Amino acid sequence: MALLVHKYGGTSVGTAERIQQVARKVAAARANGDQIVVVVSAMSGETNRLVGLAAAISERPIPREMDVLLSTGEQVTIALLSMALHELEVPARSYTGGQVRILTDTAHTKARIQSIDAAQIRGDLDAGRIVIVAGFQGVSEQGDITTLGRGGSDTTAVALAAALNADECQIYTDVDGVYTTDPRVEPKARRMPRITFEEMLEMASLGSKVLQIRAVEFAGKYQVPLRVLSTFEDGPGTLITLEEDSVEQPIISGIAFNRDEAQLTIKGVPDSPGIAAAVLSPIGEANIEVDMIVQNVASDGSTDLTFTVNRPEYERAKELLQQIANTMGAREVLGSVDIVKISVVGVGMRSHANVAGRMFAVLAEEGINIRLISTSEIKISVVVEDKYLELAVRALHRAFDLEASPE
Ligand code: ADP
Ligand code: ASP
Ligand code: MG
Repeated sequence: MALLVHKYGGTSVGTAERIQQVARKVAAARANGDQIVVVVSAMSGETNRLVGLAAAISERPIPREMDVLLSTGEQVTIALLSMALHELEVPARSYTGGQVRILTDTAHTKARIQSIDAAQIRGDLDAGRIVIVAGFQGVSEQGDITTLGRGGSDTTAVALAAALNADECQIYTDVDGVYTTDPRVEPKARRMPRITFEEMLEMASLGSKVLQIRAVEFAGKYQVPLRVLSTFEDGPGTLITLEEDSVEQPIISGIAFNRDEAQLTIKGVPDSPGIAAAVLSPIGEANIEVDMIVQNVASDGSTDLTFTVNRPEYERAKELLQQIANTMGAREVLGSVDIVKISVVGVGMRSHANVAGRMFAVLAEEGINIRLISTSEIKISVVVEDKYLELAVRALHRAFDLEASPE
């Protein structure tokens, strides 16, 4: 008998029929003799709808109330799934995050899980029930509802799997695994039977939203066996594993992209020590995360500084940067939101030289201009104009042989 945590995303529970389909799937797993804990997301589109309602009321909704609002989406699906299981005569009980004491810090809208009280869940499992837990939500020490950031149900599932020492955490979604790149952008993308935690973490951090970053971090840290599979078709999916050195690694495992960034440039700042700090500290103090940073070589005693921020924070960052520019007498502030960051990821890069050169050559052949570059040991990222996204991803996918790599 195995203990499995299943997680079903928004599309998988998007209609009453789909919730019934999930109920049948979960019931079949139980009939197989396994103990099942199910984590569900809100019905697809629901969290966005709630975000929209809040935006119609308030320009900057109070985070505490935002969490009270957003957590309702998942409360709907846990109840409906439990009802659907009862219709199949399968005993089940639904719980909100607070009810199973998913204790988090108080960082509303992006809280981190600190502990989970597994006793209640174990009791239900031992009594033969399926336990259904609302994803994406927890409770603070003070008893306030918190949420874990967009895509956070993945993290709920992994955290529960860790707390229960589950045999596997299975993330059921609308694709049948993790692909070499988003199959919506490159239909020739290939499902990977396995990917290392390290690579999956890079892919997620660089924009592949198939798994929330924190879920991968958590699974890596607590060594939770994690698998991504399709809700709608049977198959082995993709197993996220520790690094395997027995198999020869391809140079590049996957291509990730992120449309959620925006670029800002401050031009003509004096080229003197402390200038990067003077520009970027106020941005950081305003809690705006800066991703890529490039400072040009100075000429005539002045220089330009370019960086990227998350798109929702672009307007605020631009306003701040304008103020900074005025104070230090910079020439001008420029910005653009029509950018995308594209990254190639692979642990095989460690043992191969000139992956960057190849990547840049491929983009050059397509006439795509690179605006920013950053590299780390296992990834190379470039920022390009967003109209080139498909072209760039497909050209790189082909050039790095991702379609044809052996399983
Ligand atoms: P859920 O609602 O089930 O949590 P998500 O929309 O969060 O589903 O994640 C699944 C989606 O992730 C897929 O539909 C796919 O478009 C996207 N995706 C992005 N990159 C990848 C990738 N490398 N492999 C598979 N899917 C990816
Ligand atoms: N419902 C939340 C969201 O849309 C959490 C999740 O689906 O994982 O982000
Ligand atoms: Mg998701």
